[in-house]
Amino acid sequence: MVDVLVIGGGPVGLFMAALLLQAGVSVRVLEQRTGAEPHSRAIGLHPPSLDAMEGIGVARDLVAEGVQIRRGLAVGGGRTLAEMSFAGVSDSYPYVLSLPQTRTAAILEQCVRQLDPAALHRGVRVKHLNDDGGRVTAEAVAGGAAVRYTAAIAIAADGVRSTVRSQLGTPVRAKDYPDSYLMGDFADTTGFGPDAALFLAAAGIVESFPLPGNHRRWVVRLAESGTGGDVRWLVDSIRQRTGIDVDPASNSMLSRFGVRSRLVHRMVTGRTVLIGDAAHEISPIGGQGMNLGWLDAVALAPVVLASLHGKHVGVQLRDFEAGRKAAAARAARQSEINMALGRPLPAGPWSLRNRAIEAAGAVSVVNGFVARRFTMQ
Ligand SMILES: Cc1cc2nc3c(=O)[nH]c(=O)nc-3n(C[C@H](O)[C@H](O)[C@H](O)COP(=O)(O)OP(=O)(O)OC[C@H]3O[C@@H](n4cnc5c(N)ncnc54)[C@H](O)[C@@H]3O)c2cc1C
Repeated sequence: MVDVLVIGGGPVGLFMAALLLQAGVSVRVLEQRTGAEPHSRAIGLHPPSLDAMEGIGVARDLVAEGVQIRRGLAVGGGRTLAEMSFAGVSDSYPYVLSLPQTRTAAILEQCVRQLDPAALHRGVRVKHLNDDGGRVTAEAVAGGAAVRYTAAIAIAADGVRSTVRSQLGTPVRAKDYPDSYLMGDFADTTGFGPDAALFLAAAGIVESFPLPGNHRRWVVRLAESGTGGDVRWLVDSIRQRTGIDVDPASNSMLSRFGVRSRLVHRMVTGRTVLIGDAAHEISPIGGQGMNLGWLDAVALAPVVLASLHGKHVGVQLRDFEAGRKAAAARAARQSEINMALGRPLPAGPWSLRNRAIEAAGAVSVVNGFVARRFTMQ
């Protein structure tokens, strides 16, 4: 019997565990994978998340490994239409930190292990949760054998296909979008340095972000679902839409993704709370999903502590749920705007849109507002 079971040892579950362990709570993290997740999905860490990482003492490690993106450029028709500086968005971290999710998760895992070497249980797949009103028992499988864990509270951070969410029968508001993208990491030969660049091409947007080790991530909107999908197509599309040559031999990651959003009706059911992608899936365009999950954890930690100290937390839980669902809905709307701006357009509307972006970018109040929205402030 421990205080809290965290189901899922992704970036959100690990961060949640670290917050609670640091406050003296006994925690077990149950993670089905035996080793680290190999794919680097998220790369952008926003200022509020870096502030939160300070709380568990890992901000410095993250910043030491990442690239500080202090500026975003909107490029169209071969010229810079707008520059967005992140200088004014935060006193502590006036940038978006670019670091592959694999490294972020590794740093969080190390932090959890330092706080309690016995906290993370890998190779444990949770099949069922049973809430008897006084405690929660997780029925799981580890190495082919059935195992059980019992706790006062369960926090499910088990991702977009959440077993716990399905088992609770939590209703979900779902939306599928027509957009799909191909993303790949390559050696950086652009000269953009630490700047992010959005190429507003008529054929569809191309996003380009710096990565550590002089690499860059490229994300290209597919012309229509079903076309494109290999390194050659990606490199050719980058050249056609941006004029930039990327070396296909330097490709180190390639991934194609479609876009959906999901938002649960309830994050809290009895003694179980859903957080991270298990509670809300957001389009990766705009890079908010992981950050949103961390901020769920920041909001939930004091409520869990109060509950473990015997306080009645009904009102706090309702406020937590309402606040985090509203934040997820805001992030989903923001990503819809980002996706809409990147869709292909015929020549006339394309040039009108780019002129509008250029005009808006020249107004410092608008520029500052977009920078704050973009960095989740
Ligand atoms: C292409 C792409 C790019 C992205 N870029 C960004 C970005 O730049 N910035 C950003 O903020 N977000 C981004 N995201 C979103 C981000 O990757 C997710 O929001 C983030 O991974 C969510 O973390 P999580 O811990 O909630 O879930 P996950 O990372 O999915 O972790 C869930 C964990 O639970 C484990 N698990 C699942 N079921 C069980 C079970 N039954 N028992 C035990 N363990 C279980 C899984 O093995 C997994 O380790 C991107 C996503 C994609 C697809």
